[in-house]
Amino acid sequence: MSDAYWCELVWLGGESAEAGVLVEVEGEHFASVSAGTASPPEGATRLPGLTLPGFANAHSHAFQRALRGRTQRGEGSFWSWREQMYGLAARLDPESYFALARATFAEMALAGVSAVGEFHYLHHAPDGSRYSNPNAIGEALIAAAGEAGIRITLLDACYLHGGIGEPPEGVQRRFSDGSAEAWAERVEGLEERPGARVGAAIHSVRAVDPEAAAIVAAWGAKRDRPLHAHVSEQPAENEACLGAYGRTPTALLAEAGALGERFGAVHATHLTDEDVALLGGSRSFCCLCPTTERDLADGIGPARRLSAAGARLALGSDSHALIEPLEEARAVELDERLATGSRGHHDPAALLRAATEDGHASLGWPDAGRISPGALADLVTFNLASVRLAGVTRESAIDSVLFAGSAADVSEVMIAGRQVVVDGAHSALDVAAELRGAIGALER
Ligand SMILES: [Zn+2]
Repeated sequence: MSDAYWCELVWLGGESAEAGVLVEVEGEHFASVSAGTASPPEGATRLPGLTLPGFANAHSHAFQRALRGRTQRGEGSFWSWREQMYGLAARLDPESYFALARATFAEMALAGVSAVGEFHYLHHAPDGSRYSNPNAIGEALIAAAGEAGIRITLLDACYLHGGIGEPPEGVQRRFSDGSAEAWAERVEGLEERPGARVGAAIHSVRAVDPEAAAIVAAWGAKRDRPLHAHVSEQPAENEACLGAYGRTPTALLAEAGALGERFGAVHATHLTDEDVALLGGSRSFCCLCPTTERDLADGIGPARRLSAAGARLALGSDSHALIEPLEEARAVELDERLATGSRGHHDPAALLRAATEDGHASLGWPDAGRISPGALADLVTFNLASVRLAGVTRESAIDSVLFAGSAADVSEVMIAGRQVVVDGAHSALDVAAELRGAIGALER
């Protein structure tokens, strides 16, 4: 038994949109995709507008959604922002984090996100002791994604040091398992299930020493799981790493065995030519988070050079200063224009591929992010009658949506064959009310 959907315009990976495409869905997957169907056949659901594959939000810390609008103004830096983030992290428990994560993941669903990479390091109780279920918060995040209707890759992060050679202090004790072996033993207790994968993460070279990084990398390799790490977000991280180990964070992670086709370097902002060659030559993913990087004054990463060297780009909303997958995608091109004084670094199809297929692959979902038979049936439809998009043609639809579209224009979202957003509303949750309640509870 299959369901049929007729898309007025759809992106199938090329330079422009195809008109009149009939898509059949069986269970969680696309069964067939037929172009050139001028009008909807009887029984097919009509999807007016432009339909894209689902987006992957490849780097998220769900709890940081509660910082939106609380940390943006004034001076300060990544490091002063981190102090505010620590204050929030100290107040969360499995119940309050579940509510906040469910609301945040539902906001992602409304924006067209079908899979999130949740980079998870808030593991333990405030005094650093384990909960009776040592994965209580990780399980809460997986359950939250399920209720929000999106897939999750829980990237469970090893975090051992407050800085290179320093013990974890204060709220950082919630992040630490004490050793990479104890991290691995805990993560073994997290089971994959339909819609949820479990991957590994090395928080950063600040928080994980080279020996521990090698243990985490080996854990991921043995199980063929995604492995992510924050890499060179800040010049100070590079200086500390060079001072302590005589090599860059990328070189250190390469020696630890982390780089490769399952690896995602998050940010990858301040890289040497050798770093770019290592990431590109190993076919690693580089997950850019432009709306966070601009908020924290991190800098603009060498996206063009990375993709030219062979790295695959993915995108994340990271701190959730904004949850707008298309803003992350267009920023990769537009920020590079500002940095270089020239245009045309990434073509629209490449930017959309980062937001969809390559992002999903970086999270261990290689069968998602494209509209083709056998792929997971994720569809995001943009309403071209909105004030932002009115006036588009078939020829201009891709560029209009990519450069001017917004989460507010998303009318329908299907994730693995299930309709999660209908007429611009979440099918199960009042997302604004959930966000208000979850964030308000943490501020009381
Ligand atoms: Zn991050």
